[in-house]
This record gives sequence, C-alpha cells and structure tokens, in this order.
Amino acid sequence: MLVNAAEMLKNAEAGKYALGAFNTNNLEWTLAILQAAEEAKSPLIMQCTAGAAKWMGSFKVCADMVKAAVEALNITVPVALHLDHGSYEDCFKAIDAGFTSIMYDGSHEETFQINLDRTKELVELAHSKGLSIEAEVGGIGGVEDGVASSGELADPNECKQIADLGVDFLACGIGNIHGVYPADWAGLSFDRLAEIKAQTGDLPLVLHGGTGIPVDQIQKAISLGVSKINVNTDLQLAFAAATRKYIEEGKDQQGKGFDPRKVLKPGRDAIVARTKELMEEFGSVGKAE
Ligand SMILES: [Zn+2]
Repeated sequence: MLVNAAEMLKNAEAGKYALGAFNTNNLEWTLAILQAAEEAKSPLIMQCTAGAAKWMGSFKVCADMVKAAVEALNITVPVALHLDHGSYEDCFKAIDAGFTSIMYDGSHEETFQINLDRTKELVELAHSKGLSIEAEVGGIGGVEDGVASSGELADPNECKQIADLGVDFLACGIGNIHGVYPADWAGLSFDRLAEIKAQTGDLPLVLHGGTGIPVDQIQKAISLGVSKINVNTDLQLAFAAATRKYIEEGKDQQGKGFDPRKVLKPGRDAIVARTKELMEEFGSVGKAE
C-alpha cells in the first residue's frame, strides 16, 4: 500500500535528516529503487514526471506498476508515489491515476498570483483526497532555462505566502540547478535558505537538482531545514555508466548476453547501490525501522 509523503517528511524535518525523492522511468528503475529502500530500511518517495509517465504509457500505468511492485517485493518501508513538477492539468491526472502525493509547479505561471490561486485550489483538492502536496516558489535553474553558473533564489515573502496555504512541503530555489552542475557553479545560498526557513517554520523544504552538489553542502542544507532532496540525473548517470561498461566489454556479444534481462541488469544493480549510498548521505538509513 502506498502512503502520502506528509508524515515521513515531518519526521525528517524534526529529525534533521532528509529523504531522497528518486525519479522512476520504468519497471527496472522502480524495482531497483524499492529494493534499495527496503535494504536501507529508509522511508521512500518515488516520483515520476509527466514526461516519464508518458514514456510508460500513462500516469495510471506508473501508479499501478509501483503499487504492484510494492506488493510483489513485500516492501515494508513506507512508500509514497509523488508527481514531480506537475502542471496544473497534470495534478488532476495524477490524482485520478492513484498517485499519493503531487507537486504543483506554479513557478512558471505568468504571475505569482496565478501560482498562489492554483496552489490554494490544489491544496484543498489533494487534502480532501488524503494526498500530500508540494508547491514551488521561484524557478529552479537548469539547462532548459539557459541559466549558467547560478540557480535562482526564491523570495522569502513569497515562500511564506505559499506556505500559509497549507502545502505539506515547499520547493524553493537556493542557487540549485537541475541536471549536471557547471564547473563554475556558485554553490548553494545558505543565507537565503536560512531566510526562507525563518519565514516558513517547521515546513519541510525541498531541494531540487540534487545531482552533483558536494556532500558537505547537502548536509549543511539538511541541517538548515531541507528535508527532501530530488534525485533524477544522478541515477541516470549511474545506469548509463554501468550499461556502457557492459556493452564496451562486449558482453552483449558473448553467449546470450543480448538477453534484455542481462543487458539491463548492471544498470539496475548500479541504481540499487547508488540509491543506498545517497540514503546514507541524506541520513535516512534505518529511519523506517
Ligand atoms: Zn525539480
């Protein structure tokens, strides 16, 4: 059974650790991430973008697959299935499909007022159905925005206004960037993080773009109130590297090495190992015991 992510993140905020929110792309990703969480005895947020859901067929294929996989693997740690960066329309689709948590990313709406109005509406809808909801203030920098060396900084007053709507956790830019960080990246702004935390109290904060931030910066961010760290690119790199090695060693050309289960296994194993490493860094290992 899937749960929403509100309680596990409240516990993380109070306990000064963070939960990774790991993006799934397909069956292999799903099984690997679940295996890692169970072995690490960590609560888990599995998340999926609209693009990945489209790749899998639909939000419903994703939700049904994750639910079935939790049952099939006898997973005992709490698992939430969260919509990552949902548009207003995506949120309704994910709720209908059986997701237990949504992110409404209103940071790209034309005005802050639209973000505020739609977040308010979706908070009421999500809570009426027992789901948790994440909102976003200010954009997160990234390749798609053409931002180079520094991510955006969210306005603490806007964070306070969105927090007051009753969201369960809040994404706010503190210099973080999606994708791979450029060599001249300016780093996280801990001053801005502290200013936002001062305005939002014990609300769990979310750090997007968790790939490649130095561990000391990750841990300082956790100590200042970050409770959810989104990890997508990191596992993609781990999967690609392991798959590349298998092919470059010519293993797909030896015996039945072309069997898709053999081709995909090194990548799947690499996701398990890397997810557990990240759970260790974030401090969530053993928190579901
Ligand atoms: Zn993000």
